[in-house]
Amino acid sequence: MIADLIYEHDMLINFECQKCGALFDCDVGIVTLPETSDKPNFEKEIICPQCGKISMDEVFLTELGQSQFTEVIPGFDADDIFDSEDEELKAFGFYEGECQGCDLFTRLNDLGLCEECAGKLDRDLIRQRDWDYSALAFGVSAEKREALRNEIIGRYGEKLELISPKEEPQRKRKKKRRGKRKKSSRKR
Ligand SMILES: [Zn+2]
Ligand SMILES: [Zn+2]
Repeated sequence: MIADLIYEHDMLINFECQKCGALFDCDVGIVTLPETSDKPNFEKEIICPQCGKISMDEVFLTELGQSQFTEVIPGFDADDIFDSEDEELKAFGFYEGECQGCDLFTRLNDLGLCEECAGKLDRDLIRQRDWDYSALAFGVSAEKREALRNEIIGRYGEKLELISPKEEPQRKRKKKRRGKRKKSSRKR
């Protein structure tokens, strides 16, 4: 009765493996989209270069992959079928914008920091023993925190990477401190 929609393209789709994080192009062959289902059938298996054969549930469709799909299947809503890469990131509080630490326009966490700066901040928090604010130290017992701190310092050095003692990157929070110094104090 209801004919399946068949897309006679050999489709090369860009996926991200959920297991190992590899990005790869995969030739899925001819795609059939049954009218009765919202899941397309691929002629060929999805093969991760690292993990081998994997199922549709084990891959993310990358942005590139999504546009590859919509090119051959207009209006195709990939979100229904695949876990979207973006959604996973959003779940962690990521969004796009300008990083507070390095001014790079990229994906940011809820503090407005890119992944790299977020890592720097976290290490700085540990260096300063601000355990409560550190994601890395979260859930680490009091005795083990010092060991964690030593490990961080051993690997990345003792110097602060992002938090500047001179109030540079964190303007918003620390601005008020200097307000009381009088301008005229150096004049005679
Ligand atoms: Zn893999
Ligand atoms: Zn940054």
